[in-house]
Amino acid sequence: MTSKSRGDESLIIVMNSDADAADVAHVVERLHDIGAEAHISEGRYRTVIGALGDREVIQQLPWEAFPGVERAVPVLKPFKFVSRDFQQEDSIVAVGNVPVGGGHFVPIAGPCAVESREQLFAAAEAVAKAGATILRGDAFKPRTSPYSFQGLEEKGLELLAEARDEFGLPFVAEVVDPRDVDLVASYADLIRVGTRNMANFTLLSELGRQNKPVLLKRGFTATIEEWLNAAEYIYKEGNHDIIMCERGIRTFETATRNTLDISAVPVIKGLSHLPIIVDPSHSGGRKELVAPLTRIAVASGADGFMVDVHPAPETALVDGAQAILPSEFTELMGEVRALAGVMGVEL
Ligand code: PEP
Ligand code: MN
Repeated sequence: MTSKSRGDESLIIVMNSDADAADVAHVVERLHDIGAEAHISEGRYRTVIGALGDREVIQQLPWEAFPGVERAVPVLKPFKFVSRDFQQEDSIVAVGNVPVGGGHFVPIAGPCAVESREQLFAAAEAVAKAGATILRGDAFKPRTSPYSFQGLEEKGLELLAEARDEFGLPFVAEVVDPRDVDLVASYADLIRVGTRNMANFTLLSELGRQNKPVLLKRGFTATIEEWLNAAEYIYKEGNHDIIMCERGIRTFETATRNTLDISAVPVIKGLSHLPIIVDPSHSGGRKELVAPLTRIAVASGADGFMVDVHPAPETALVDGAQAILPSEFTELMGEVRALAGVMGVEL
């Protein structure tokens, strides 16, 4: 065992969809025979095995000749399963019955936080009518101040589930605490990890062990590599349904809430097979920036966008300054449709 390659996974062995437990056990046994470790990630559609140990010894074996093995992929980056080396084709993530990625573009809209039935239903009805395909709304809010409104908790999730039934939109909601993962997963169609929790590895691993898709926001001080490593934490535990979300990063600039790093879209697309969307509301932080930043998001090749829409932004308990009105969202959707046509993506 060379000390240089120890500690790094050097090969990923992808089992085909009809491989059985004995095929997996056979590969694992062979890895152990040559002194390597096996990290098994059992996904909904297939199992992948990360081989850890001496790169040269591992790569000498004819893995593709083993029963049940589809292919063996050498990996050079710190993140593996989420990389393009591992999977060339774009991943398509199903949120309820809405596909995201691989040419399927998704508009996500709704209030930042669920405040009341009236507020949520007014927003949900309007965004559904305007063409949003996923509803957003939070029941748990990670606030900068401990004295600010923290969310309606389970009551908020119940209202979101009612709005889903009423308007036919699957919904995304944030989870803040690993102890609430089961609760949020029992209601939401897509679970969001917020910027402040991107590096909460306990939470990420917990989300990797349940089977709802995850929307992973970029940490506001995270590099793209750190962000992809966060996705790797989820993938590795067996949940392969991950959507990345660029939401702006902290820079020296103070004219905007955060600086939207639009180059993250093509960079992620080059490095990873995962879909990526953009959040123009939390990056710009001001309502007049939402439409221009959304247009840029569509033109960048992103797989969707997520915006805050509130029926009465001046009364909003959270993020009123960046919320747009339902009528403004309707207008924005007209522009999005036109640009999506130019980009050749399906709404
Ligand atoms: C949000 O989407 O409501 C949110 C809190 O976003 P972020 O974690 O990006 O600040
Ligand atoms: Mn918000």
